[in-house]
This record gives sequence, structure tokens and C-alpha cells, in this order.
Amino acid sequence: MEDKHIKVLAIQDEPKMTAAIRRTLLREKSPSFDIELADRLSSGLERLSGGGIDIVLLDLMLPGSQRLDTLDRVLAHSTKVPVVVLTALGEEALAVKALQRGAQDYLFKAQLDSNMLMRTMQCAIEPKWADEASHETNLFLQNTLESSSSISIMFTDLEGNILYWNKGAEEIFGYKAEEIVGRHKTNILYPDDEEETKRTVEEVRSFVLKNKQGTSCEIIEIAKDGRKLWINVNITPWLDQNGKVIGILGIGQDTTERKHAEEALRVSEARLKQIIEKNADAIIVVDRDGIVQFVNPAAESLFGREAKNLQGESFGFPMVAGATEIDIVRKDGERATAEMRFVETEWEGKSAFLTSLRDITNRKQMEVSLERANQDLKQSMEESRTANQKILQQQKSVIEEERLKVLLQMAGATAHELNQPLMGLLGNIQLMRLNKDTPEKLAGHMDIVEEAGQRITDIIRKIQDIRHYDTKPYPGGTPIINLDQKLNIFIVEDSVEDFERIETILNTHTGITLSRATTIKDAVQLLDNGHVDLILLDHVLPDGNSLDFLRIMDEKVTGIPVVVITAHGDEMVASQVIQAGAHDYLPKERVSDQSLSRSINNALEKGRLKREIKLAMKKMVEMSTRDDLTGLYNRRYFMEALEREVARAGRYEFEIVLCMADLDHFKRINDTYGHPVGDRVLSEIGRMLKKCFRQSDLVCRYGGEEFAVILPNTRIEEARTVGERFREMVAGYAFEYEEAQFQMTVSIGIAKLDGSESKTPMELVAKADEALYRAKGGGRNRVKVYRS
Ligand code: GH3
Ligand code: MG
Ligand code: MG
Ligand code: MG
Repeated sequence: MEDKHIKVLAIQDEPKMTAAIRRTLLREKSPSFDIELADRLSSGLERLSGGGIDIVLLDLMLPGSQRLDTLDRVLAHSTKVPVVVLTALGEEALAVKALQRGAQDYLFKAQLDSNMLMRTMQCAIEPKWADEASHETNLFLQNTLESSSSISIMFTDLEGNILYWNKGAEEIFGYKAEEIVGRHKTNILYPDDEEETKRTVEEVRSFVLKNKQGTSCEIIEIAKDGRKLWINVNITPWLDQNGKVIGILGIGQDTTERKHAEEALRVSEARLKQIIEKNADAIIVVDRDGIVQFVNPAAESLFGREAKNLQGESFGFPMVAGATEIDIVRKDGERATAEMRFVETEWEGKSAFLTSLRDITNRKQMEVSLERANQDLKQSMEESRTANQKILQQQKSVIEEERLKVLLQMAGATAHELNQPLMGLLGNIQLMRLNKDTPEKLAGHMDIVEEAGQRITDIIRKIQDIRHYDTKPYPGGTPIINLDQKLNIFIVEDSVEDFERIETILNTHTGITLSRATTIKDAVQLLDNGHVDLILLDHVLPDGNSLDFLRIMDEKVTGIPVVVITAHGDEMVASQVIQAGAHDYLPKERVSDQSLSRSINNALEKGRLKREIKLAMKKMVEMSTRDDLTGLYNRRYFMEALEREVARAGRYEFEIVLCMADLDHFKRINDTYGHPVGDRVLSEIGRMLKKCFRQSDLVCRYGGEEFAVILPNTRIEEARTVGERFREMVAGYAFEYEEAQFQMTVSIGIAKLDGSESKTPMELVAKADEALYRAKGGGRNRVKVYRS
């Protein structure tokens, strides 16, 4: 055999590696190596086209070309030349993938300097030699490889009896040569199936006899200690001087570890697929050209299309770093909104984007409908207010009119009242003038004058006591209510005569049921027992007046409309009772069917409006989802969201994490710089939270200076990292407001709920709280994860 001369093309760009390759290969005499270098893929491929290269050493990480793409391009260029890829330690999975795609072997860069390089090179070009098999080749192999510790060499006769067993075989199989030589080859074949094993031996034998040339294959064998071994064997016929096959030479390389790595990769890929399949979020794998490669069931339902209709299609959404919101038109025409993020990954050996889409349609819709409901409420509040205003205006003028009437009556009465003493006064003064010469008569006149003066003084005092009372704005007015509806009217009236008058009027209306009390005490008691729509209240009662009763009603917050019936002489209390909460008043002497109906209508309508406004206010508060100060979600929304997320986590069996954050010594900020500065700190903290956490995390103000963040579908370690980041952000921030300059810290407690645990939201809150408590106890400004 002429001296073997091997041309190596090393495509790699690290000077250190070049040195290692030279050092190792150039030392060899037989075979001798020639090394050519290419530091870029393009120049390597060019050189490869020139021909004459026996083997390529290929670094997978080259400028402008990465990982398996690099290998693909070399293999596409030349299928004949064996390629050994160079990878970094720890990239076992990548190496295995390279083999699966057609690399001859792989080498870790760190092992370049050892004998590994030589061995790998020899093994890689082995098939080439096997093709040119000859006696000399066999001898060469014997010489070079006999001492090898990682290559097994074994000769068998044509029957399969082992004749020779080298050190490498001893090491790989665990049998000493003296133990195994003379025994049959089937002893080291994996006994999956005895027949199969025998057949394998027979097949090899007949192949070698027939073709008189070598082949290579992978065989599963078994070590002495029972370990299953994957051996890559080069089988070469052993020829005698006459060219007759007398035995078989097997050169084996133990690829068990590689097999395990392959298995591990297969398992991890299978697991990845499983996780993706089960994921609650839609997952779509898109290749570099934007073509959909894979979709999970959640993606099918998000897009409303089957996987087979999505795969192979263009994805159509650009890959933008961070979270983006995308609008999806489903097959059925419905629209959905999703939050999209992606990672670069490898999918079936090619680089690809793994995009996850979280359906936030419901959340969006809920926000929109809440917003709309709020808007509607605001509008109806506004309408109520305007109606009120109108009613109030009408009411005011009615009251003004009444007051004017009252005043005129009063004026008339007062004039009438004044008339008598005035006449007495004037008459007596005249008499005094006439009798000025009879002093004994004067005294009597003077007495009368004085008395009249006194009466006038009393009347003037009475007039001075009349005050102008402001009417309290109150709703009511337009007779919308039909008096023939079912109404329970409760009359508080001590006078039988007055009660009967009202009763006679109201009995003409079908649907009105009357009940009665004669004292405040009885009235209060009876009111507790039954349903009452309206109260007609006499002003003067045996145990107090209408104002006393109204005060009690006010405390009880019944909301039942009250019309006060004022007796002659009580007119001045009208505005007082209105102020005290009566919905209307009616002078007793004017009680008629018409006026009573009008008053009842007014009062009922006002009562209804009052109730509506109250309800609307309550609803407004209930329906708001945001905290005013920070703009974050409020506690009420938080509790709702947490319940929803916990249920979702349970359904899809993923983890949900809750972070609770509490500002440290926040009270001091209020105490030192005042509440407004405290408020500004809280809203700044809200901003930081929004910045730190993902869009799909729910950031809430839990109360006061406490915040809570729900992180759905998140692992606790990720949450801890984000928590730490937020803690650092706060601690590193200089709060500056006019005079005030200070720093703050925050304590954080984190807890998770496993999808498999069936826990309630409150238990999760309690756990996070416990962790927060420990963070405080541990000295504040720290993140603690809940451990039971
Ligand atoms: P610790 O480190 O133990 O949490 O101490 P702390 O002072 O932060 O906790 P503490 O619960 O004693 O005090 C919380 C303070 O937060 C008291 C309260 O006045 C203040 N606070 C709560 N809500 C608001 C708010 O809306 N605005 C302002 N300015 N202060 C608030
Ligand atoms: Mg009375
Ligand atoms: Mg605090
Ligand atoms: Mg607190």
C-alpha cells in the first residue's frame, strides 16, 4: 500500500483550534495529513468544490452561519466527503442532531488536543478505506488500532467464533481476551431475540463471502455486566494470501453515550411537544420564512381553524420583540385579540420561531363592556340629575308660591290682628286729648294705650320670628306614577276626623291599601312589620311632631317617601319638614283628591329617583375596575381575576404565581412629607410595576401601599426574577418632589399554585402574604418565596 495521504479541510475561525488541529495531525507520519484552512463557510465551500478533500472538520459556529444551517450547507455541497462537526461542550443535543442529518461524527472543541481527534478522523474515513479493503489495509488497521482503548477490534472465523479481542474491546465489553476468545460471537450480541441474533451473524457472513468487501452497521451488543451497548461496526473480510475469505474483522466504536443522548433528545423533544399540546396558550411554530410549521390545539381553537389548514400557510404577523397585541379574524368571521410573544428556537432541526399567543379577547371585551356599562351608567346618572334639576325647579316654584300665599295670609292675619290694638290705641289717645283737663280719667286711658302697645309689640315680635327658610333641593314632581297601581299607604294621624277625610278620598282609588298609626311610637313599630310605599304624616302628634318622626326615619334609612300634612297655623313648618327629609307637604285645609294625588305622585316619583340615584352610585362603584390613584386594577377586580385565573390554572394544569408587594416604612413618608407626597409615591410605584411585569400579568393595588400581581402560566423562579427586578428598581429610584428627596424599598412575598392542587384563591393570597410577612421579618427590602 502506498503511504496514505489525507487532505483535511478545517472550516473554522478560531486560531486556538487551528493550532490544536495542526499540533495533533501534523505529528502523524502514517497516514500523513495535509491541512487546509478556511475561516468562513463561503471560502470553505469554494475550496470543497476544488476537489481532493478527504475529510472536513466543520465548526458549527461560523460568522454568518449558525448551527445546523452550517452543516446543511456543507452537506448540500458535497455528499461524498465525510464531515466531522466541532461543537462546544454541553451541546450534546446539537451534536446528535448533526449526526442525524448526516455528519460522520462530532468532536467537542475542548477535546481537540487529545487523541480523540486522531481517532475520530480515522473512524470517519474508515468507510472509505473499507471500500478499498485489502490485506494491507487490514494490517494497517491492526497496527494503528490495536492499542487503542476506545476502539474495539475483534476477529472471528466464518462460524462466528471469536479469535482475537483487543484492549479496546476489553474496555468496552468488560471481558478479558482470555475469557472471551474461543467463545461464539452471539455471546456479546444483545439477546433481544435469539433467532434474530443468529440471523444477523449469518447475514454478515454471507455478505462478506459474497461481496468480499466491507460494510458498516450499528449493532446492539451486551457488556459483561449486562449493559446494553450500541456499537458502530466496520466489518471487513479477512482474506488469506489467495484472496479467500477466512474470517471477519470487526472494528467497533462505542456509540452508547451518543444513543443515550439521542434518546434523551427524543424524550425531551417529545416532552416539549406534549407540553405544547397541553398548553392553554396557543403555540405556533413558524419557520424563518414565516411559514407555519406546527400549531397546538389551543391555537386551532384561537384561530378557529384546523391544524392542517394552518400548517404550510404564511403566518402573517411580524415577529416583534416583547409582547404585541394582534387581532385575529377567525374562520367563522369572529374576531379575537391575542397577546403574542416569541422565542427563537430549533424545530425539527431548523431554526424557527416559537410564538405563544394568549387569548385576551374576553379580557378586552370585558374591559370594553365595562367601559360601556360605566358610560351608560354615567349617562343615566346625568339624565337623572337633569330630571331632578327640572323637578326641583318646579318644586321650588310651587314652594315659593305656597310660601308667598302663606306670607300673604300671615300679612292679612297680622294686619287684622294689629287692627284691633291699633284702633284701641288711636281711640284712647283721642279720648285722652278730649279729657286732658280731667286728669283722673287719663290713667284709665293710659292703661288701655299701654295694653294696646303691648299687644302690638307682641305681634311685631311674632312677625320678626318669621324667617326665610331655604328649601333643600330635593327630587320629585312630574306625575308619572299611576295612582291606581298597588300602593300601601301608611297614615300617621291622631285625629279620627282628619284620618277619615283622607281615607274617604283615597278609598276611591282601587289598589290603595291604607294602614294607620296614631302615635310616633306605634308608627315606628308598625313600619318594621310590613311593606309601606308611602307615609302620610300629621305634623302634631301626641308624642312629638313630624320633625321628630322624620329624624327617626332618617336614622333608619328606609327611603320611604313621606308627605307631611300640616294643620292650619303650621304653615311655617313646611320648609322645615322638607329640610328634614319629607318628600312633600300639604296643608290640611287643602286636602282634596286632586292635591292629595298630586302630592302622593310627587313623593313617590322623588322617592323612586332618589333610590335610582343611590343604586346607580352603588353600581358605579361596584363596576369600576381601576384604582383612581395608580390606574392599576383595584382589589375588587383583583379578587375576581384571581378566581378566574385559579380556575383556569386548574383546568389546564399550569402553575399560577401571586406576588404581593408592600412598601417598607411607608408611613414615615406620609409623616415626614405629607399625604400628597405619599400619594405621588404610590402612583410612581404603580408605573414601575407596569413597566416591570408582563402585559399578561395582572397588576393590582391590593389596598393602601400593598400591591398584588397575578402571573398566570408562570414558573415561580421566573416570578422571583421579575420580583427581584422590581425590588431593585424601587430601591435604586430617587424619589424627588420639590423639597422632598428620598429613597424607598419594598418587600415582596411570592407563592404559587400548582395546576394540580385544588386550592382556593384565598389560600394563594394567604401563602403570598405569609411569604411577605417573612420578607418583612427578615429585614425588609427582599423577596421571599413561600415554603410550607
Ligand atoms: P411596613 O414596612 O411594616 O409595611 O411599614 P409601613 O409604614 O409601610 O406600614 P403600615 O401598615 O404601618 O402603614 C401603611 C401606611 O400607608 C399607613 C397609611 O397612612 C398609608 N397609606 C395607605 N393608603 C394610602 C394612600 O392612599 N395614600 C397615602 N399617602 N398613604 C396611604
Ligand atoms: Mg295631630
Ligand atoms: Mg408597608
Ligand atoms: Mg401594609
